[in-house]
Amino acid sequence: MQVPFNRPYTPENAIAFIKNAIESGHLSGNGGYTKRCHTFIKNRYKLKECFLTSSCTDALEMSAMLLNIKPGDEVIMPSFTFVSTALAFHRQGATIRFVDSKKDYPGMDELLIEPLINKRTRAIVPVHYAGTACDMDIILALSGKYGLYVVEDAAHAIESCFNGKQLGTLGNLGCFSFHETKNIHCGEGGLLLVNDESLVERAEILWEKGTNRASYFRGDSSFYEWKDIGSSFLPSELNAAFLYAQLESLAKIQARRISIWNIYFNGLRSLAEDGHIIIPKIPDYATNNGNSFYFLCRDLKQREELLSYLHRFGIMAISHYLPLHKSQFYSGLHDGRKLPFSELYAETLVRLPLYYDLNETQVSGIIEKTIEFFKNK
Ligand SMILES: *Cc1c(COP(=O)(O)O)cnc(C)c1O
Repeated sequence: MQVPFNRPYTPENAIAFIKNAIESGHLSGNGGYTKRCHTFIKNRYKLKECFLTSSCTDALEMSAMLLNIKPGDEVIMPSFTFVSTALAFHRQGATIRFVDSKKDYPGMDELLIEPLINKRTRAIVPVHYAGTACDMDIILALSGKYGLYVVEDAAHAIESCFNGKQLGTLGNLGCFSFHETKNIHCGEGGLLLVNDESLVERAEILWEKGTNRASYFRGDSSFYEWKDIGSSFLPSELNAAFLYAQLESLAKIQARRISIWNIYFNGLRSLAEDGHIIIPKIPDYATNNGNSFYFLCRDLKQREELLSYLHRFGIMAISHYLPLHKSQFYSGLHDGRKLPFSELYAETLVRLPLYYDLNETQVSGIIEKTIEFFKNK
């Protein structure tokens, strides 16, 4: 068996759409396919405004710029997340206050946020880990009480909800990833949802290198010029064309990923019942979007043994994340609090291969080898 951790899916229409983009003579950003993607997403999630970006990292950086995050500000987020969540705010000069994970959820413990809030705090950045929602009622109540922005890192969270509401639409801003390892992808890509109407006009300027070019091309301005800070956050039409083919296949891709997730869940349930592993729990307020299937081993040693066992059979299961508060880059800047659950997930979490083209035989084989590892112990 040779099963990579991920294999990017290419929808049938992707090549035709890319060809069409080339023939249209417009390959830079904000062309026909970008507009099609925007319309699709706005209709689907009933949004005011959204912007395709070159990555979720870009969407997070655009958020930090839009909120005028500056030196002296503090931003609260989990330690157990990808680098970009923190990097975007660090670049603007903010101090990152990391929050520990929960005992039964790798995302941040909402009850640990309030003690970290002070007069320098500007924003809370929840990460909806594996597409499972954080408790947004708690986070939005804190945002209201202390006047803080909420930027959702919804990189994993397309088609997933908190109490029936699409993730990424609840905070002031929502950031999605279309990296090839995410549910919907275009190689590298991202999306910023601007839910806060007061931020929309400026978002468009930051998106277009600090100019009002988008407004000019719409015919709303007679020329365009340098207006503000910003960057080139737009993806090319080649990426947007591929992405549009993925969005067209959204229902199909989601059904397949959730089906694989359920096979893993049911297949590994007995191991969890026997106390060998811990499998994910989806709270009543959350949904599962088939972003990733993960479970926890007993300790680091067992996790490493399991990974090498699976790798020996060509099954490329992985672990992640290294806690950001202990990273080479940030450990010296961290305020010193211990975050034991973040470290525990880093040492014990296993992610199994999960992608559209993974077939049932492969999934059964992966389950079988995983069970075999624990039963032979
Ligand atoms: C993947 C990911 C990102 C970064 O996404 P890119 O599109 O690769 O920039 C940010 N946050 C989280 C939680 C992620 O998993």
